[in-house]
Amino acid sequence: MTMAIRPYWRNFIDGNWVDGADGTRIVVTDPATAQPIAEVARAVSADVDRAVAAARRCFESRVLQDLRPSDRGEMMFAVADQLDALADEIATVECFDNGKTLVAGRAEVALTKRYLRYYGGMADKLEGRQIPLGKGLLDYTVHAPFGVSGQIVPWNGPLPVGARSVACALVTGNTVVLKSPEDSPLSLFLFAEACQKAGLPDGAVNIICGYGHDAGAALAAHPDIDHIVFTGSVETGKSVLRSAAERVVPCVMELGGKSGGIVYADADLDRTAASAARGIFHHSGQICSAGSRLIVHRSIHDDLVERIRVLAEARTVGPGIDGCDMGPLISERQLEKVEALCRVGVEEGATLVIGGSRVQGLPGHFMAPTIFTGVRPEMRIAQEEFFGPVLVVIPFDTPEEAISIANGTDYGLAAGVYTRDLQLAHWTADRLVAGQIYVNEWWAGGVETPFGGMKRSGYGREKGQEALLGYVQTKNVGIRL
Ligand code: NAD
Repeated sequence: MTMAIRPYWRNFIDGNWVDGADGTRIVVTDPATAQPIAEVARAVSADVDRAVAAARRCFESRVLQDLRPSDRGEMMFAVADQLDALADEIATVECFDNGKTLVAGRAEVALTKRYLRYYGGMADKLEGRQIPLGKGLLDYTVHAPFGVSGQIVPWNGPLPVGARSVACALVTGNTVVLKSPEDSPLSLFLFAEACQKAGLPDGAVNIICGYGHDAGAALAAHPDIDHIVFTGSVETGKSVLRSAAERVVPCVMELGGKSGGIVYADADLDRTAASAARGIFHHSGQICSAGSRLIVHRSIHDDLVERIRVLAEARTVGPGIDGCDMGPLISERQLEKVEALCRVGVEEGATLVIGGSRVQGLPGHFMAPTIFTGVRPEMRIAQEEFFGPVLVVIPFDTPEEAISIANGTDYGLAAGVYTRDLQLAHWTADRLVAGQIYVNEWWAGGVETPFGGMKRSGYGREKGQEALLGYVQTKNVGIRL
């Protein structure tokens, strides 16, 4: 069921819904039609100040820190419960501001609830250590919160990406100012509504929407934040890090990827083709861990490419509301970027097997599913992130060569290997430089499995138990009895 989209959305600061300090608004458009669907109050640096001050007051009041941790966990369960009542509206806004299908929008609600319950359940399981120092001394460690966590979220999956960071921050006693993405801000406002209805203390979670160069930069450089979680591109990440370096603020950085899957000659080709097609065409490739490079043993190259081509051709491309397999890219800007890099691929001498440009005749930002062969590892299309439905296929002859190609980019977010030989799978997983390795199924893993980058894909981990450690600092207490 779809619902009417509210025409105007305010920022959520200190438990209240507020207009932007300068009264201006951001127009949100439907990427499937390029038509405006709503306006949001545009947060500028004065709004960032206000939100950070609210989060600071809440932190200093110790209202979260003094709770028994299990009660902080209960808060997350309460937020998850509130999301049920908002699920149809969230699915609708994800469809119209993000280009997802209603089914995918509902899946995001389910995933978000999973994160809230997972981290809610961990609230009372983060324990310190007692360190023996001999007679007359008692020593123990405490996981102390940082304080105010500034969080910046990209447009491709704002609700689960934002909510998991908020949950980790709150269960460990931090407070949050989150900047939602200007291209698809609406679902996180509904998340804020769930937090409000669940009775979270005022100022514990503040969610604002502004432009990156403006509100985002102001948040990253704010003198009163203690911690940063940034998810987005490498270039923006570097500028956030420069701001953080000025004040020595610790960061969790979840950046881009150019993740490669190695397909050995003994792989199950039908399953591999299905996994590879999903890995690059799901959400039109707008996923940081998309499987955007396939490194294929020469003996099966043509056969596998043909199977993936058939799957690509069978995908329906169109508005999410029509239940199409592949929705639009988020904006004309993103579509132009993807098309331009495709043209570079052709100029570099790669072969277009299918796609390569926008889908004609549709008003929105629809990119055709695209496959390139004849790709050499040093080509720009093999090195740069498209963040679109574009697969580049690179042949190899020996396992060592495959590893060298797979590891031969600046990125290290995810990687994969397809083979029936378990020993070869282990050997390969051991040598791949990436934060997550998938064997025989792209995205094998889930909420429970630590996720994050190596090399320029960032550092720190989201998901899994390990993520919580990115939201706390160890404090040691030594006592002379
Ligand atoms: P982006 O870097 O342009 O924007 C991300 C966020 O940063 C947005 O909220 C934006 O407003 C904000 N921002 C922009 N300029 C800023 C500045 N100067 N200071 C502070 N904030 C600023 O990225 P995008 O285009 O929205 O998202 C796509 C990128 O994000 C891709 O590279 C993708 O791989 C990456 N991504 C990574 C993950 C992950 O978990 N590793 C998840 C999703 C997306």
